[in-house]
Amino acid sequence: MKSVALFGATGSIGGSALDVLERHRDRFRVGVLSAHRNVEALADLCAKHEPDVAIIADRTLRDALAAALRSRGLKTQAEAGGEALEQAAQDSSNDIVIAAIVGAAGLHSTLAAARAGKRLLLANKESAVMAGPLLRAALRKGGGELIPIDSEHNALFQCLPPCCDDFAAHGGVRKLWLTASGGPFRGRTREELQHITPDQACAHPNWRMGRKISVDSATLMNKGLEVIEAQVLFGIDANAIDVVVHPQSMIHSLVEYVDGSFLSQLGQPDMRTAIAHALAWPERIEAGVPRLDPRTLSLQFEAPDEETFRCLALARAALRASGDAPALLNAANEVAVAAFLENSLPFLGIPDVIEAVLNELPSQPVVDVETLLQRDLTARSAAQRIIRERVSG
Ligand code: NAD
Ligand code: MG
Repeated sequence: MKSVALFGATGSIGGSALDVLERHRDRFRVGVLSAHRNVEALADLCAKHEPDVAIIADRTLRDALAAALRSRGLKTQAEAGGEALEQAAQDSSNDIVIAAIVGAAGLHSTLAAARAGKRLLLANKESAVMAGPLLRAALRKGGGELIPIDSEHNALFQCLPPCCDDFAAHGGVRKLWLTASGGPFRGRTREELQHITPDQACAHPNWRMGRKISVDSATLMNKGLEVIEAQVLFGIDANAIDVVVHPQSMIHSLVEYVDGSFLSQLGQPDMRTAIAHALAWPERIEAGVPRLDPRTLSLQFEAPDEETFRCLALARAALRASGDAPALLNAANEVAVAAFLENSLPFLGIPDVIEAVLNELPSQPVVDVETLLQRDLTARSAAQRIIRERVSG
């Protein structure tokens, strides 16, 4: 029986993970559940899954959480704040950590799980993007295993050779191809994107996801972050990672080998497949996903439109600049997306803000978490200032 700590339990990935875990109560128990501020939603999940510990990230809500758990007659212990998340990530009573917090807020708990040698199921791509070298060092030190549950990276994990840690030199890998759905605005021109609303941007054709990643998918920043994530997770040269648009989202990525073979993983666009794979690996378990009939498939592929969707090129530039440029890109993107979701920045303003921040702050080497978080804050205030100047100017 493996005990699972699920961070970001009230989110889209959190819900998919709980659905898979519930199907396998004989193999997994829920040890920890966490949420940001929604006490009632977290307490309801606790009533259903009976974890030992529930963590509310906003520390002012600890008493409210304790009361909500008591009122449901639960023995679950109430904890609050970032230290409680870090503590749970490394606690010896949990074997598996699912990192499904959105954004930079997931960084500390992700690194703590890596340092503690857990099986780390990584959905929180922002932590890999921000702190690639630190995450790799923490994994080496902890000796655990990271299994990506971002669907593309999970597909690559499944298709890469098991033999080696240098895939290009010894595994015959020529290229990683990340598939992208193209988002809700595939085929649109810049003119057509001028008056996009947050609800339009969040209406993804194939996936139901949280609002931040939905906007990232609409701008193609999600694919940009995923190129960086792939470089961090698989240690492959940035030039050997490419993107192909595949609107049906059935092929979740491809590995191209030097002998001309392509290996790909196909499946429904349903995150439960990747989550079930990563929970049980190297075994396979039921995920609850509807079966796919290959006779019904008709698959298309095309090149991404990087001129209209500038975020992909910006992410590649940050990866080339190396050092902490990906962290600055991520911070500026988080601020710009939040401003767009609050209607204080137009859709096409998102790449403008990110580009301005990257131009203003040349990249520096990544030395430690504290310095990185300082730089994250600097990039956030620069982005906020640039957004204010746009409004007033
Ligand atoms: P979501 O917005 O639906 O859920 C986010 C979760 O994080 C919630 O439980 C929320 O309470 C928690 N959270 C938010 N801010 C927090 C904070 N400051 N401190 C602590 N907890 C906080 O997001 P999601 O769609 O589930 O995505 C989660 C992560 O997984 C993101 O990094 C996203 O890029 C990645 N991901 C999601 C999908 C998907 O299909 N949804 C696919 C691939 C990768
Ligand atoms: Mg993905």
